[in-house]
Amino acid sequence: MELNKRQEQILQIVKEQGPITGENIAEQLNLTRATLRPDLAILTMAGYLDARPRVGYFYTGKSGAQLLTDNLTKIYVKDYQSIPVVVNDSISVYDAICTMFLEDVGTLFVVDQQSLLVGVLSRKDLLRASIGKQELTNIPVNIIMTRMPNIAMCEKEDLMIDVAKKLIEKQIDALPVVKKTEKGYEVIGRITKTNITKAFVALATEDL
Ligand code: ADP
Repeated sequence: MELNKRQEQILQIVKEQGPITGENIAEQLNLTRATLRPDLAILTMAGYLDARPRVGYFYTGKSGAQLLTDNLTKIYVKDYQSIPVVVNDSISVYDAICTMFLEDVGTLFVVDQQSLLVGVLSRKDLLRASIGKQELTNIPVNIIMTRMPNIAMCEKEDLMIDVAKKLIEKQIDALPVVKKTEKGYEVIGRITKTNITKAFVALATEDL
């Protein structure tokens, strides 16, 4: 996060004289307390400053890297997940290809009659199945999909950083967000590399 000139001045004053009250900082900068309030709020939210009632503001002494690590542990799957696109395991490869285009996604999650996760279909899975001369309307997706128990998944309370690590480790583009039930896993969302990119940008702009 880039600080403006006034925020830099505030930080300098607090570094040298903290703990110090908002009123006192305002006086030194010839500003009113109200004018200063948004800047103090930003510096506190970003983790540069901390405030204690009846004591005032003090400098946390955290480095940029520490603040970044702090922020990484605030980004959860539930805040960035997208709507999942699921198909039934009995549909054909042809229909799965149509669904992928219509829904504009790169990964489809395959569910059984009870709506429980049984497989994953990627773009290349479908391309591979299309190379042969077979009739695509006759091949069910369940013979070409990646199936349980080999599916990497995540839950809505997981951290985005852990999901990003899993995508790299498994060399895949997406994870289903699941809810565990007695019978199996229900698909309630998806996290793709696009969601990770959005979280990355939010981190840079402090728009968490
Ligand atoms: P693509 O195959 O289009 O490059 P991916 O890299 O996502 O897309 O998929 C690579 C392989 O991994 C495919 O065979 C796919 O079925 C499988 N795959 C994709 N997502 C998952 C997942 N969450 N868990 C396990 N396997 C997956």
